[in-house]
Amino acid sequence: MATIFDKIIRGDLPASFVWQDDICVAFMDISPTSPGHTLVVPRQSVVTLAELDAATRAHLWEVANRIAVAQQKALGSKAQHFWVNDGRAAGQSVPHVHIHVLPRYGRDQLQTMGRVTWHLLTLAIPKKPSKKQRETLEAQAQAIAAELAKS
Ligand code: AMP
Repeated sequence: MATIFDKIIRGDLPASFVWQDDICVAFMDISPTSPGHTLVVPRQSVVTLAELDAATRAHLWEVANRIAVAQQKALGSKAQHFWVNDGRAAGQSVPHVHIHVLPRYGRDQLQTMGRVTWHLLTLAIPKKPSKKQRETLEAQAQAIAAELAKS
């Protein structure tokens, strides 16, 4: 069965893309835990990292790292989490492997803890961003994409 991410990759669902190549895509998380929260997703629709070949796995991490650097330049983040829920029992809600690149801005511990809790509590609820929220996601995506294009 097609995952939400398959539908985004096919163009059947909207997303704010920061990167697309033959192996993977990256787009803004619809329910960001911090401003700029990006997902790196292989075009190959498998659940866990172990199901990918080594070259694809390495490529995903390379793209995730480049996105983190671009987030810092574009959005002013100071550090980031690379976060993988690698299978359902690890809390994965979309059964299509992906790396969360979650920017941190310094002095944002409480805010981030609150957002992570909210994110986890509402994961099962389908999200539809408002027009304003989509504009914000799109602006952040374009800023990150512009930095990636320079690197
Ligand atoms: P996980 O719990 O690791 O499977 O994370 C799945 C992520 O996908 C969550 O952070 C969701 O907010 C995000 N997500 C779900 N649907 C969409 C969507 N349509 N566009 C962008 N991100 C999404």
